[in-house]
Amino acid sequence: MTIKLSDELSKNLLELGPDATVVVDGRGTIVFVNAQVARTFGYSPGDLMGEPVEALLPERFRAGHGEHRARFALQPRPRAMGEGLTLFGRHKDGHEFPVEISLSPVQSDAGPLVVAAVRDATVRHDTEQGLLEANRAKSRLLAAASHDLRQPVQALTLLNQAALRHAGPNARLADILRQQQRALDTISQLLASVLDVSKLDSGALQPAVVDCGIGDVLDRLRSDFQPLADEKGLRLVIEPTAEAGRTDPELLRRLLGNLLSNAIRYTATGRVQVTSEAQGREVAITVRDTGIGIPTDEVGKIFEEFYQVDHGSQRPEGLGLGLSIVKRLAHLLGHGIGVESVVGQGTAFTVTLPRVALAATLAQAGAGAAAANAKGTILIVDDELAVAHATSLLLELEGFDVQVANGKEEALERVARAVPDVIISDYHLRGLETGADVVAAVRVRVGSSVPAIFVTGDTSKLGGANVGNSILLNKPTKVDELLSAIQRHLAANGAAAR
Ligand code: ADP
Repeated sequence: MTIKLSDELSKNLLELGPDATVVVDGRGTIVFVNAQVARTFGYSPGDLMGEPVEALLPERFRAGHGEHRARFALQPRPRAMGEGLTLFGRHKDGHEFPVEISLSPVQSDAGPLVVAAVRDATVRHDTEQGLLEANRAKSRLLAAASHDLRQPVQALTLLNQAALRHAGPNARLADILRQQQRALDTISQLLASVLDVSKLDSGALQPAVVDCGIGDVLDRLRSDFQPLADEKGLRLVIEPTAEAGRTDPELLRRLLGNLLSNAIRYTATGRVQVTSEAQGREVAITVRDTGIGIPTDEVGKIFEEFYQVDHGSQRPEGLGLGLSIVKRLAHLLGHGIGVESVVGQGTAFTVTLPRVALAATLAQAGAGAAAANAKGTILIVDDELAVAHATSLLLELEGFDVQVANGKEEALERVARAVPDVIISDYHLRGLETGADVVAAVRVRVGSSVPAIFVTGDTSKLGGANVGNSILLNKPTKVDELLSAIQRHLAANGAAAR
């Protein structure tokens, strides 16, 4: 049954509603306003009759409003105006205030009309702004607290390690100290994660977006995660790529680092693989594992803070914050994040970012150390000839020019012929000579701070190794680590461009 309402009844209904109601005709002229309009806009109804509806808008929106009206007339249906935007009304006294507006088309004998119900949203708007600011303030407090708490935890860690070294034959004490260390490590990781989350939430972190080779980011990840994968007996396969993307490389590395650490953590056997694939105007980077997988009904929840999938008897290893950091980083960078998983078979997380074409040389730099560094010259200093020659062969195969010296004298002879881009030196050389002495002498001779890599089997005896522009690697050195360290030096010192 349909009821045809009399004009009188319709008007009474419009008067009864809680909102300021304005009815306009097809030309945007006000043909009716209810009494609420006086409270919201300050006009008495008589002031507005026959005026253009634009009189109720701030001046800067008036010119464009006709177009919005025309668009509504083309597809007239009840809807909220400017969904997702903050709309403003203009009071008779000139002040602006936020409004919410619902529009409804109605047919009348005089032609199509539009009924606009206008609600003053000042209170809601202020409440939302207040909540947003309160939330930011909470995040800033958490960031400050977790940052400051990390210092004493670091001091406790050092003291605990000193105690462990002096525990002597007291196995029970050593065991207690080791357990204490594990607890300290957990606190320290938790503080680092809370700091990350709160920094991201407080809006303090501004991404520095540039065009960069994806390979460069992946190279760093390889050296960071290879030891973890090795420890678990997993194969880490990071496929070389010449793709480039628009991103903040440091934040992307942190995002992918969280995914890689999860992939390794939740995989008992098999491999963890990172691939990069061009997909039209985007690059998709996928971290795929052969691990335990995530049940379908849990996939929607894993990005929430502190959410951990219940794996029965097995205690969760992580802290439950990794993926919420991933979600925030992806949001901040404007990158997409997706996940596919099959329980018992494995999981794949994919990050998508805008793809860019970089100059060939720069893009290749990420494709692995080999080709891009053909012009780099490396000086190897080692008194163990077999080691020196093996390293030399490896680096020559990677495309570097290599010189070998067994100590300071020979090193100074070699650099007289060609200044190296990087020096790789064993730290403890014959007699009391150290790699630091050799590097210092070479730097004085060539008059520049040639970057150095020190290789050592005993980090505890490195009291004097505090040499600038140098990287320290432990023996046995992994090839990937060595190449990545060279790559970092070349990139930082601009040698790759030569
Ligand atoms: P956690 O510190 O527990 O790893 P995250 O936020 O990083 O916290 O991950 C949330 C949950 O998602 C994890 O507890 C785990 O159950 C699940 N998860 C994340 N990554 C993987 C993965 N690669 N394979 C299987 N499960 C995963």
